[in-house]
Amino acid sequence: MEENHLDLKTCLEEAKAFHGDVCAGIVLGTRLALLGLEAIGIGDPKGKDRKDLIVYVETDRCATDAILSVTGCHPGKRSMKILDYGKMAATFINLESGKAVRVVTRMNKKKAGEVDAQKTDFAGTPEEELFSITNVEVPLRPEDMPGKPLQISVCSVCGEQVMDKREIVRDGRILCKPCSEGTTYYGTLSPERTAT
Ligand SMILES: [Zn+2]
Ligand SMILES: [Zn+2]
Repeated sequence: MEENHLDLKTCLEEAKAFHGDVCAGIVLGTRLALLGLEAIGIGDPKGKDRKDLIVYVETDRCATDAILSVTGCHPGKRSMKILDYGKMAATFINLESGKAVRVVTRMNKKKAGEVDAQKTDFAGTPEEELFSITNVEVPLRPEDMPGKPLQISVCSVCGEQVMDKREIVRDGRILCKPCSEGTTYYGTLSPERTAT
């Protein structure tokens, strides 16, 4: 591997291979990731720095594929956390130094509507026009880190296993989130699965 594997052109090619095409989201996501990595001092995210990096992304769209491709972080490794906020933003955390930055795309509504027409512009637009970047602190807990699950609990209502301390403890009972809320993405739970 050559030194400059983090140049924009190479990263765009890799993101294209992963995503299937180079859309506006891929261009923006690639640049956003390069900016974030540089700001936290990560130069070799898929090589020697690969265990020092965690990324939070705030959309489940194209840009996330680019960020995954550039950083090598992905959900199954727990190095990428996907928050479905619908925002083209991501936070990059250097686990070794503790430095963390959040990068958000400053796209106004007009630009969002013309996204495809402008995709070549996005590659050439100055960084400060496209993104804003802030230092942040992310309270990472042991149960958020890569590695084996630190804890597996069993929901007292549905009997299903819950990993990584994602359970709710209410009145001394262990509940999975759906049972504690009585509702899920696949609908309202039956009364016997609703903890009261
Ligand atoms: Zn796309
Ligand atoms: Zn449950």
